[in-house]
Amino acid sequence: MNDTPAAGSGIDAAFVRRWLDLATTALDREADRLTELDSPIGDADHGSNMRRGFIAARTAVEQEPPGTPGGVLVLVGRTLISTVGGASGPLYGTLLRKAGKELGEAETVGADRLRDALRAGVDGVAQLGGAAAGDKTMLDALLPALDALTGALDAGGSAAEVLAAAASAAEEGSEATTPLRARKGRASYLGERSIGHQDPGATSAALLIGALAEAAGATGGGAA
Ligand code: ADP
Ligand code: MG
Repeated sequence: MNDTPAAGSGIDAAFVRRWLDLATTALDREADRLTELDSPIGDADHGSNMRRGFIAARTAVEQEPPGTPGGVLVLVGRTLISTVGGASGPLYGTLLRKAGKELGEAETVGADRLRDALRAGVDGVAQLGGAAAGDKTMLDALLPALDALTGALDAGGSAAEVLAAAASAAEEGSEATTPLRARKGRASYLGERSIGHQDPGATSAALLIGALAEAAGATGGGAA
């Protein structure tokens, strides 16, 4: 449709590689915090899982850089699936692989295609993990991000603006998981006792979306 690379910033392979670098840096910086969040309601490995997976993905992309944004995302997704154990590896792997496949062979896309890709990825996560909004999972950051991105696009925002909107919504969504009771994943075994803790996967999802906004030149990306 209107494939406008808003503000002249088309999303190409270099953009996705910039995102990958920023995401890896953010996950490395926040790994201890993610693992701390995964202590009371999990098995204290989320930070190390994500750091390991993204460092491996960055190495894979550096070794054989794909020429398209979709190609980079597919390679990152595949690497996460093969290097990250636990629930989050296959889930994030699916998110990025499906998003990459949705972009096909295009060399440059606009924010509207990125929205379609994020939607395909989020649908893949929901299908694989069987979670819905409010179950206290990564989807509680991803779904608000997708909604905000869609709303900002409909309002005619630039790529940087729509990604900044998505990043704030993801951040808010991750914070809003604290009072929720987990219904999926390891945390659900705790029942009521999962209430009162922020979900680690929603927190890492907010970091990933924050890195997307940073890659587009919007400020932010820190989750201090
Ligand atoms: P594990 O729980 O296997 O140790 P991680 O600690 O790496 O894996 O990841 C835990 C995160 O995965 C949770 O905080 C949650 O956000 C996410 N998660 C777990 N199960 C699901 C699911 N079924 N659907 C979506 N996200 C999930
Ligand atoms: Mg864990």
